[in-house]
Amino acid sequence: GDSASDSDGKLACWGVAVDLPAHIALGGDGASVLSYRGAAELQPGQLVRVPLGAREVSGVVWERQDTPADASVVLRDIAAVLPVPPMTADWCQRVAFAARYYQRSQGEIASLALPPQMRQDAVDAIARRVQRWQAKTGAAPKPAQLEAPRTLTPEQHEALAAVLQPLDASADSPAPRPLLLFGVTGSGKTEVYLQASQAVLDRGQQVLVLVPEINLTPQLLARFEARFGAHQVASQHSAMTPAQRAAHWWRAHSGHARVLLGTRLAVLASLPEVGLIIVDEEHDPSYKQQDGARYSARDLAVVWGHLRRVPVVLGSATPSLETWQQVQTGRYACATLSQRVGSDAWPAVRVLDMDRLPPRAQGTPPPALHPDLQAALADRLERGEQSLLLLNRRGYAPVLECVSCGWKSACPHCSAWRVFHLGDRTLRCHHCSFTERVPRACPDCGDQDIQPIGRGTERLQEQVQQSLPQARVLRIDADTTRSQGSLAEQLAAVHAGEVDILIGTQMVAKGHDFRRITLVAAINPDGGLFSGDFRAPERLFALLMQAAGRAGRDAAHMARAEMWLQTHHPGHPLFAALAAHDYAAHAATLLDERRAAGLPPFMHLALLRAEGREGEAVEAFLRDAREAGREIAAVIQPAPTLYPPIAPPVARVANLERRQMLLECASRQALQHLLAQWRARLVALKAQHRGVQRWALDVDPQGI
Ligand code: ADP
Ligand code: ZN
Ligand code: ZN
Repeated sequence: GDSASDSDGKLACWGVAVDLPAHIALGGDGASVLSYRGAAELQPGQLVRVPLGAREVSGVVWERQDTPADASVVLRDIAAVLPVPPMTADWCQRVAFAARYYQRSQGEIASLALPPQMRQDAVDAIARRVQRWQAKTGAAPKPAQLEAPRTLTPEQHEALAAVLQPLDASADSPAPRPLLLFGVTGSGKTEVYLQASQAVLDRGQQVLVLVPEINLTPQLLARFEARFGAHQVASQHSAMTPAQRAAHWWRAHSGHARVLLGTRLAVLASLPEVGLIIVDEEHDPSYKQQDGARYSARDLAVVWGHLRRVPVVLGSATPSLETWQQVQTGRYACATLSQRVGSDAWPAVRVLDMDRLPPRAQGTPPPALHPDLQAALADRLERGEQSLLLLNRRGYAPVLECVSCGWKSACPHCSAWRVFHLGDRTLRCHHCSFTERVPRACPDCGDQDIQPIGRGTERLQEQVQQSLPQARVLRIDADTTRSQGSLAEQLAAVHAGEVDILIGTQMVAKGHDFRRITLVAAINPDGGLFSGDFRAPERLFALLMQAAGRAGRDAAHMARAEMWLQTHHPGHPLFAALAAHDYAAHAATLLDERRAAGLPPFMHLALLRAEGREGEAVEAFLRDAREAGREIAAVIQPAPTLYPPIAPPVARVANLERRQMLLECASRQALQHLLAQWRARLVALKAQHRGVQRWALDVDPQGI
């Protein structure tokens, strides 16, 4: 290629963060910044292409170096500089922070943050594209439509003032505290986001809005576009094509777009003039990336706000216990929206004891619906109102069993059952996706009597339809929404009143504004009460609160709104807290439990995960890793604890044995200190333990 050395006589040595796989990047000093020769007038943050071995890879100019990192090698030239403005110092800082905190390389985080086209396409193709984008932004923008700001309620007004107050702080005042905007769905949080955004746009700054799920992007996007005009708004989520992703990235990066709305990855976006960061539904677990670089977008948003000294708003009706605890200690501010706009009622909560079903004929399995719930559904049907049944398990039945020999539909590749899907008559593994036609007879004994055990959404749909034949029943879950646009279509049918009973997984509990639903029922919420995952009760409460918020959104129906719960533990305090609509009391109880058990947010956790063909080999690696870690921990105060390796609940996935090891420490810094030193030891240990295929550190893991 055309080397930088032809253009100008003056050359310098530049450290370039390159996109290297973690296991290579983490060798040596743990960095992925390599030395290259390039023009002296280059700047940190510039996107470049550099030779690496026989390949050419993308990179980010990271720092000017006096001497090359490795003096023994002849410096190679930076091959090309991309025709886009350099990444800002604040972006580089954010990438460096994320790399350090989550134990990855800078290059890895940087490449995650950049659209694939920017990293992979030929430089002249990128140049042509940038020209096209430039020309487009010159065209007259379509004005924003219909959508005028509302007159705020007193509570909204106070919340808005709390968000905006740091904007007028002097430059030498401390970074603003993150603000929890605590309010149920429908309490007017989005209106506060919109008006706060307007104020920030008026000051010539940009706004980042994070949403947990791609399914929720279109609705919020529509409201932001209606308020500010589509030309001002860019988005970023996983359903965009590479071309769309590059174009939207450029609009935010170049400052043409003033609002960026996206899912978790957008927290690594380039927004040079950011003045406000909003994290909607901040408690949502999907803010945590679950593979590769396991970062928390919520936490990185807070860090970003701190680095840039801009306000961060965390919105939720059921804040994460981490955030709630920060509010209790005063490190975060809090503004509360206590009422739904137009109505202050909360659905009546009815708890059904599934151990006290009316007598039924011997040998008959328990019904899907308690007779009282069934009567309530019939009642809604008669009145032309809608109902929502929530069951967090898709498929027909989680397992098939042979009545005569006890064969079960195990996955041959995982330590898990394969789920029976009636729609396409398959047995499907939800861990490795291994799929087969459902057998006609037992594969072991040939008996034809194989029975579905348990209940998923498909079976619930069948049973509801049988008991209420006149009802129009629609199921929405990951299986019914695979094709593009199908979710929107199905939701439209609900809104249009073409559906009487909607059955779905947690997907339908989130965000959607169903006007005619007056009954919401959780069919089997008990799994979340006694799960091995310490966060399960927190999640369940959030989900049920959110689901309850679906009922009676229309003030006319509010008086009749009900939330039903079918449970074997009717006396559980979680249900009582839900009935009382009392998040604060419930959070206090959960926090006491966490404190007593030494769990987050009072303890900081990290997991070392590893996998390989043989469980014993993986465990041997983890045992050695533990020894190495304990040596390092011995000289750290307070010393992190390293627990012995264990198998996770699903220990084998796609023929690989998974094992993990927990680290905990009361001090985040001390834990970080250990991880930073431990990483290089792990790289070396992996080289000795050939039976390990992969390992990864998970800092602040979601489940343990
Ligand atoms: P949330 O984001 O908390 O779910 P929204 O901001 O979407 O709440 O508000 C719920 C509904 O109330 C929306 O239809 C919104 O347009 C309306 N709304 C919000 N604030 C006001 C207000 N101050 N006056 C009138 N309507 C409002
Ligand atoms: Zn059998
Ligand atoms: Zn499997």
